Parts: sequence; structure tokens; C-alpha cells
Amino acid sequence: MHTVTLSGTDQHFPVGKIVCLGRNYHDHIRELGNELPERAVLFMKPASSIIGNGETVVIPGYSHDCHHEVELALLIGRGGKHIAEAAARDVIAGYGVAIDLTLRDIQQELKQKGLPWDIAKGFDTACPLSDFVPAATVADAQNLQLTLSVNGIVRQDATTALMIRSIPRIIAEISAIFTLEPGDIILTGTPAGVGPVVSGDRMTATIAGVGTLDIGVR
Ligand code: MG
Repeated sequence: MHTVTLSGTDQHFPVGKIVCLGRNYHDHIRELGNELPERAVLFMKPASSIIGNGETVVIPGYSHDCHHEVELALLIGRGGKHIAEAAARDVIAGYGVAIDLTLRDIQQELKQKGLPWDIAKGFDTACPLSDFVPAATVADAQNLQLTLSVNGIVRQDATTALMIRSIPRIIAEISAIFTLEPGDIILTGTPAGVGPVVSGDRMTATIAGVGTLDIGVR
């Protein structure tokens, strides 16, 4: 079982499901040539895909195109079904930094065939995750700078203000489908600048005021 920690507290959460949002930043939709979705594009990663700061992503042998996607992660502290947007902030225990590793070649192939993407998104090590900072320490989660560099070169640099669906909207939409439970994690989508990493690379993902992830690639 995987557990995440709320920094500066004695609270630990066994991780339940990790619900991820796709296509939540215009520039990223454009760079992949995707359409703006009417309904939220949702998928899940298993808790077994989590690794922590300082650990290493292992690219599976069935892919030759593994992409980084830096994302703001939400830790659910209080569960619920049909959570209203106005109440959404009350269910967030903390914020963290995540990298949604994606096997782009496998994802494209499966999408074209109309098949599920799980093996492109949920493989072991596909979800590097920082410790979480308590929600109360983040003044405005909808205005945070997120960056990701590979070997010291900045690839992604944007702000959470550019999200298409706001954080409360994301929680409302997800909880209308999946009951949220304490220890669930939500990945809120990635801005533009996604690209490949290869064995030997080093990724540094930072969200100002939230944390940093330093992750190797093998
Ligand atoms: Mg993503």
C-alpha cells in the first residue's frame, strides 16, 4: 500500500485512486492536435505507479517515446459524492507536484484503435509524486507557477491560472462520477511543452510554494 504525507503534520494518507484529467490547458491541446473536450477527459493511474522524490522512472521496453507532463496534484482529505463547486476547496487536504509519465507512442496506437490507454499511463514508476503541503499554506492554487526541466533545460513553464476547468469544477465533475474518498489524488492536467525523456535524463519539476521533484530516468 502506498502512503502520502502532509508536510509539517503527522497526517499520512493511504493512497486510493489517482484520477487524472487530460486536455485541461489550451496550448497543450494544440500541441498534440487534440480537440477541446466537451466532457472532462478522465483516466486513472494505479497507486502502484507512484514513486517519490529522488527515485527513478523506468521506461517499459514496449515503448520508444515516453513523455513528461508536470501537473498540480490534489490530495483529497474528505470524501463525497456530487461535491458542489462551492464546497470543493473544503475537501482538499493538500497540494503536491506530480509528473504524469505517458508512453505517447503506445497511447496514440491505442487511441487509434479505440482501446483503453492504461498501459501507456499506469505502468510502474509512471507517477512521480512529491510530499503534499497542507492546503491552508497555499494562498491561491489557481495561480501557481509550474515548471519542468530536463537536464537543466526548461521544457514546461506555465501557471495553473491557464487551466480550462478550474480546481472546484474538476472536483465537482469527478465526484459526480466517482465517489471521492480520503487519500484519493487528482492530477489536474498539464500545460504545453510536453516532450520525450530517455534513459540517463534527469527531470526537475517544481511548483512554486508547493514543492520540487527530482527524478531520474532509466
Ligand atoms: Mg497528463
